[in-house]
Amino acid sequence: MLDPALPAPPVLEVDLGPGVRAAFTGRAGGSSPAPWSGLNLGLGVDDDAERVLAHRDAVGRWLGAPLVFGTQVHGADVRVLSAADRLARVEAGTGAATCGEQDALVTAQPGLGLGVLVADCVPVLLADPDARVVGVAHAGRQGLLDGVVGAALEALVAQGARVDQVRAVVGPAACGRCYEVPEQMRDEVAAVRPGTSSTTSWGTPALDLPAGVVAELRAAGVRTVVETGICTLEDERFYSHRLATRGGTTTGRFAGVIALE
Ligand SMILES: [Zn+2]
Repeated sequence: MLDPALPAPPVLEVDLGPGVRAAFTGRAGGSSPAPWSGLNLGLGVDDDAERVLAHRDAVGRWLGAPLVFGTQVHGADVRVLSAADRLARVEAGTGAATCGEQDALVTAQPGLGLGVLVADCVPVLLADPDARVVGVAHAGRQGLLDGVVGAALEALVAQGARVDQVRAVVGPAACGRCYEVPEQMRDEVAAVRPGTSSTTSWGTPALDLPAGVVAELRAAGVRTVVETGICTLEDERFYSHRLATRGGTTTGRFAGVIALE
């Protein structure tokens, strides 16, 4: 059985306005051994599932709400979670933490936590604290190309948000100095998503996905966009898939989480 006393982990709390609780988790506060070392929240990376779910519950305790994650497929589909979804999540308890194949989740329901799992891809948290709607998006290269950020914003608006009231936080991700890609890929992405073209610190073609997310949100009319400015390849408090792969191993996933109080 899970340990109900597992304390809420330390997180990087971010401010998306009154009545909204939001944060990014890191490695700190978890019990996974190497190679996941820490607070791994990702199923499907060969870590013990019961341990991962206990970690998710601990984050939910910090958030004050049970957490739901989508099964992320690098797409642009959005799921809007209703009061019935919240009830089902609460009744199911630990284990029912995944709601379907979506890379973005939106809800107007208080007391339901939305999570997005990453390790280099860009976690995006969205909220309109006045309209009382929140959302998350997983924006990797493919998702950003396919429009997951815009789709999440549209779903937020469909639930009553006003774009000029929306606040966004762009979380820890691979930065434009570290995310090396072939030149052709850089140019293809930059042609669709302005702001993404970059150069690594060692002078080769790169992509700046966080900058692309910021540019897309601002172009859509979002006025308040905050970047944590943290690079997952440079800051060992967070998981990095690319760093692990480079070292011939695997790693865990951290999360961006948000809930209406
Ligand atoms: Zn970097």
